[in-house]
Amino acid sequence: MKKVLIIEDELSIVKLLQYNLEKENYSVEVAMDGEEGLNLALENEYAIILLDLMLPSKDGMEICKELRGEKVDTPIIMLTAKDSEIDKIVGLEIGADDYITKPFSPREVIARIKAIIRRVEKNSKHEPLPETIEKVIKFDDIVIYPENFEVYVKEKKVDFTPKEFELLLYLAENKNRILSREQLLLAIWDYDFTGETRIVDVHISHLRDKIEENPKKPYYIKTARGFGYKLEVPK
Ligand code: CA
Repeated sequence: MKKVLIIEDELSIVKLLQYNLEKENYSVEVAMDGEEGLNLALENEYAIILLDLMLPSKDGMEICKELRGEKVDTPIIMLTAKDSEIDKIVGLEIGADDYITKPFSPREVIARIKAIIRRVEKNSKHEPLPETIEKVIKFDDIVIYPENFEVYVKEKKVDFTPKEFELLLYLAENKNRILSREQLLLAIWDYDFTGETRIVDVHISHLRDKIEENPKKPYYIKTARGFGYKLEVPK
């Protein structure tokens, strides 16, 4: 049985999550205090950790950073109360795998948990890259090395989070094609439902900051208004 750790101080949310997770056959452990949650996460193995942002004694961001610092690579889903916190979480690159904005539906949480677990299991098999993926992808000043997870912009190596990298690679593999937000969500985050697509927009804006000369007037990553995005590579 897969074990899930919930670190959350709001009893109603804990109960809602616990009930729905147990119904799906997950075993659940709960910490309602930050420090206690951190210790549990350090001492035990979990399939996934649901981590609230505002907690007594230690907040979610600190916990996330400390776990990553201790090389605990359990997937972490941050639970945030405000939409405005999303940019902060993604922007700080504290090492969370995903976030969910409150209020959320249990169905959404379960779907995300399953998506992340699927992804982790797929990645841990260390499958070689499919042959359709080129060894080096190059356009103008940008060079991507899919096998090494490296990107060079104007001959300078630029760091990408795993999700940013996957997104860029996917856009590059489908260059000059418009991709909908839902398509990107499914391809990169494995969501098999129409979920919140804001995570796509946030990541696109980070990609632009990293590869575009003028992120406000993007040369590569174009917006297809009301639909999605396209990586445009001049022929
Ligand atoms: Ca809280």
